[in-house]
Amino acid sequence: MKILSLLLFSSFLFLRPASLAETKVYICKGKGSKRYHCTASCRGLSRCSTKIYAVTKTKAKAMGRTLCGWED
Ligand SMILES: [Zn+2]
Repeated sequence: MKILSLLLFSSFLFLRPASLAETKVYICKGKGSKRYHCTASCRGLSRCSTKIYAVTKTKAKAMGRTLCGWED
């Protein structure tokens, strides 16, 4: 029984609602890049000349980024 409750406890931790975690967005640090993207495979990122960085949405907004035009 002890093992079972341990398993239940770990799956509870694993299945925490995603809303509790900060949303990750993706940004390009190229010149003139002012957008953030919900997926790293976004069309808007395909032209990116630098590495693609994952940051939290809060941080992206603090950097003055706005949601990319390809997303809804
Ligand atoms: Zn995008």
